[in-house]
Amino acid sequence: MEAKEACGVFAVYAPGRVVSHLTFDGLYALQHRGQESAGMAVSDGEAIMVMKDMGLVAKVFDEQKLSALRGSMAIGHTRYSTAGSSDWQHAQPVFRGVGRAGFALAHNGNLTNTKELGERAGILPGLVSSDSDLVAEMMGMAYPSGDAERTRAEESGDLERVLGEVLPLVEGAFSFVLLDTERIIGVRDPNGFRPLCLGRLDATDELETGWVLASESPALDVIGATFIRELEPGEMVVIDANGVRSERPFAADRVDPRLCIFEFVYFARPDTTLYGNEVHGARRRMGQLLASQRPVAADLVMGVPDSGVPAAEGYALASGIPYGQGLVKNRYIGRTFIAPTQAERANGVRRKLNPLRENIAGKRLVVVDDSIVRGTTTRALVKMLREAGAAEVHLRISSPPFKWPCYYGIDTPDRSKLLAAIKSPEEITEYLNVDSLEYLSLEHLVKAIDAPGAGFCAACLTGEYPVAVPVAIGDHDVVEGATSATARS
Ligand code: SF4
Repeated sequence: MEAKEACGVFAVYAPGRVVSHLTFDGLYALQHRGQESAGMAVSDGEAIMVMKDMGLVAKVFDEQKLSALRGSMAIGHTRYSTAGSSDWQHAQPVFRGVGRAGFALAHNGNLTNTKELGERAGILPGLVSSDSDLVAEMMGMAYPSGDAERTRAEESGDLERVLGEVLPLVEGAFSFVLLDTERIIGVRDPNGFRPLCLGRLDATDELETGWVLASESPALDVIGATFIRELEPGEMVVIDANGVRSERPFAADRVDPRLCIFEFVYFARPDTTLYGNEVHGARRRMGQLLASQRPVAADLVMGVPDSGVPAAEGYALASGIPYGQGLVKNRYIGRTFIAPTQAERANGVRRKLNPLRENIAGKRLVVVDDSIVRGTTTRALVKMLREAGAAEVHLRISSPPFKWPCYYGIDTPDRSKLLAAIKSPEEITEYLNVDSLEYLSLEHLVKAIDAPGAGFCAACLTGEYPVAVPVAIGDHDVVEGATSATARS
């Protein structure tokens, strides 16, 4: 997939444990959600230390830096830019030095009413660097002004009170984690666009019970925490010395579960639990159902690494066509280069994937991938397979055509660059130079996820935006004809 993930968040409250190392491990498990910058904020109960920088988690932190970050609670963030460009000032967590020691915030998602929020709060354009920074600024403004007479106990509830004021004003996609000197807090927006889950570090003879919040459940597994549950859309969880408390800061009529359907298709790790199911199983079922839609005679089913592989396994299982590897992925590519142009993006395929010629030559291939966004990399991939001797290439996509930009935290190009928005299926077949092309239907996608009654966002597939979106965000195009999108300028 050519669209980019948009951030992973992590938080831990664990008296007696070395939380900076736990946060490092958690962020490492969430690296796939953002590779541009990484950071963490750690508190020892008196002060908050923030460390963040550009690059992968393992580049930003080393043993020496982690050892300097002392405390029993922390939040962390891995970032891919959606709002705001890619540079240091956009790295998270963001910090505000208000009250006794301030607070830190990390955000996965994208807000849709930043203009109104900024105007309402009287924040001058250019003062804040991103939507996350805007929320932090609004919270900072809502904090009680410094008063030496206020006791620590009186100040203790400030973060929750301020969130109670600010959160109801905020619209769009947000899974937040926050921290002050006494607590960590996790918030999921009323639609639950982006995931957030709760885990527990069990008490031992020496250590109290600890608590963890993470975008995806594997970040709990790697630090030995037990998955407890996913936070509900519209839920705020406060974790402090008294344990875990659940609050509902949003009006009940705003709560409408719409988890991003592409978390299942591509963004989330296969070992992540979402809506109670492991994502890998859902991807296999997508492949099985895809095989039933448009059968084809072929010699080999292969997946495009990594997220196309489980669907290819499912396709092979259902079709009876042997499954095999046709491409090897360079596992160490990361985001070591940025490819701003179509041509460079196409070249990037060669750096990332290499064909297994003996497996491919002379074969009729079913090639399974998760999605087509611009089509540039898919076209380069098909060319590579044909050059390696493929007799036929039948492309199968484990999601419906991607026709609309995402405004909820995923970096996608504007409509004019979305292949399925500008070309018919026949034109796409010709452009990609494939013998046949089939997309998984939305009905089958939902069936494969197997979460009866669960709500999804599928706006990039249907144009039905569950939360009103601005006319333009950054370089996104006007949302023409979107059935429930509201122009806001
Ligand atoms: S528009 Fe698409 S990518 Fe964005 S949140 Fe909705 S389903 Fe996910």
